[in-house]
Amino acid sequence: MTIDRETFGPGGPGGPSVREVTATQDHVDVVVVGAGFGGLYALHKFREQGRSVRVFEAAPEVGGTWYFNRYPGARCDVESLDYSYSFSDELQQEWTWTEKYATQGEILAYIKWVADKLDLRSGITFNTRVISAVFDEDALRWTVTTDTGEVVSARFVVMATGPLSSPLKPDIAGLDSFVGETYHTAHWPHEDVDFTGKRVAVIGTGSSGIQSIPIIAAQAAQLYVFQRTPNYSVPAGNRPLSAEEVEQAKATYADRRHKSWRSGGGSPHVAHPQLTMEASAQERREAFERRWDLGGVLFSKTFSDQMIDAEANEEARKFYEEKVRAVIDDPAVADLLIPTDHPIGTKRICTDTNYFQTFNRANVQLVSVRKTPIESIDATGINTSEQHFDVDAIVLATGFDAMTGTLAKIDIVGRGGQRLVDDWAGGPRTYLGLGVDGFPNLFLVSGPGAPAVLANMVLHAEAHVNWIADAIDHLDEHGLAAIEATADAVDDWVTECNKRAEATLFPKANSWYMGANVPGKPRVFMLFIGGFATYLDICAEVAGAGYKGFSLIKRR
Ligand code: FAD
Ligand code: NAP
Repeated sequence: MTIDRETFGPGGPGGPSVREVTATQDHVDVVVVGAGFGGLYALHKFREQGRSVRVFEAAPEVGGTWYFNRYPGARCDVESLDYSYSFSDELQQEWTWTEKYATQGEILAYIKWVADKLDLRSGITFNTRVISAVFDEDALRWTVTTDTGEVVSARFVVMATGPLSSPLKPDIAGLDSFVGETYHTAHWPHEDVDFTGKRVAVIGTGSSGIQSIPIIAAQAAQLYVFQRTPNYSVPAGNRPLSAEEVEQAKATYADRRHKSWRSGGGSPHVAHPQLTMEASAQERREAFERRWDLGGVLFSKTFSDQMIDAEANEEARKFYEEKVRAVIDDPAVADLLIPTDHPIGTKRICTDTNYFQTFNRANVQLVSVRKTPIESIDATGINTSEQHFDVDAIVLATGFDAMTGTLAKIDIVGRGGQRLVDDWAGGPRTYLGLGVDGFPNLFLVSGPGAPAVLANMVLHAEAHVNWIADAIDHLDEHGLAAIEATADAVDDWVTECNKRAEATLFPKANSWYMGANVPGKPRVFMLFIGGFATYLDICAEVAGAGYKGFSLIKRR
């Protein structure tokens, strides 16, 4: 069951629920859907090109992910210095990050600052959800309709709707009958939530659960953590950034960014020069120790073959297990917290601050939902197969209908009346994650078939928007009206993405990358796994070859 943020109004419970209907008709070059990192940069870039742009954003504010995910402990897991716009040296010199991994609040403040500085708000219509986009084959234009009744005609539509923007509410019988407080991490209220003195249940132990649990535990009288599948989590190693460090980073930003653009994941990380098993046992251990001490998700990239070679992965996993066991007092609890069902890194590694230590607290109890499934929720709490847990609040940290969930909520109708949801019934199909056959002049930002969430998403969004902007320029320079991925190019790209995924350990996990967290969703690896720089090279090559794999359409 997907939570429709509209049910509550865009700002969550308490947000505006009365819709104003204004049936105007506007003609623009580009409609951009979404005002997160992707949509904001798109607005700026297209404006710089002199194009007329309308941006629609369902929320009342900019920020996307960072507007909605305000749960305790929410912060980025790519270093702040890297997880920020690179397109303007002025921006990166003027803004000063205070921590290695910025909090949600600091990232949102940054996004708002950028929006104000570049005068982006004037191009955005807030509190407005795009409900359909229909292609008119004669006019070669899209008709975009919003939930306020506005209708806009656009030559191009850019979907910057986010890969993680449709929160999932679990299908647990009786959930709505609970009389206490219920929260979803991706739908967190704007007011402070104080769990002091309360009995709290957290359902879900992905990145959101793992970031919030230590903080909730420190407040609550009693915390029950309902874990279905344990996750790998590495200490973030978060810390304040010193003035000298920031100064040094700013002085060498160009080099830092260059390394990020040429990297596998969009940050300036360099893997150990040897393969895991080529290194001696001592070198291997030292490399893992070094990476562990640096902290964070890059642990899974200590060696370049960790996600390909099962033996290499097992070395990382053993090291991990040793580290985690060392900080958990009760070995039986450690057994429950250490994953055994998937290779390390095949789900996004979580990053934490004292997550495992939290289970040493007297007021925290781990409930394995695998051993004793949640059967229902009633007015007073949670019923597992063994026990009733009386609680005052339930926190759902149950994730997202990732990559496709948000696009599926928009009625996107292309040539010949074909609907994107029907075309993707067996799994998403794109060319480069940017275009779809049958949908001319429709572009996706950080969509399926791109590295997207496998890379630093800010640079990824910049790369996509730059590519789209260049493609539009190319059309204009050559007197062309439209661009559309060919069916063959889409088929080949889907095959390429699958082939690359199958050469790795990733398909072994029941991850949201595979659609496995949503009942009934096709099991397909939805991303390009070949690395960020490799992907950018392919995109550049396609453009350089006159947009190979795309049909370029002249007006009749
Ligand atoms: P979003 O930020 O999701 O913005 C999409 C916007 O589109 C939203 O504001 C939404 O309201 C709007 N929208 C959607 N549908 C419609 C519609 N029909 N009409 C109008 N508006 C619509 N990535 C990293 O690289 N590093 C990290 O450290 C990191 N941390 C994360 C932490 C959390 C808690 C989460 C959930 C994700 C994290 N991500 C991270 C991924 C993150 O989603 C991206 O980094 C990035 O913020 C996505 O930007 P975006 O603009 O593509 O999408
Ligand atoms: P998630 O990784 O999908 O985790 C959801 C959790 O909820 C899983 O533990 C899942 O268990 C559990 N769950 C779902 N339905 C359940 C049910 N009915 N009963 C019991 N448990 C249930 O979602 P997320 O934690 O929100 O993270 C999603 C992604 O967002 C991350 O992978 C990351 O890319 C991004 N993110 C990043 C950060 C960061 O550190 N910067 C923080 C938060 C999110 P199963 O595993 O068994 O399905």
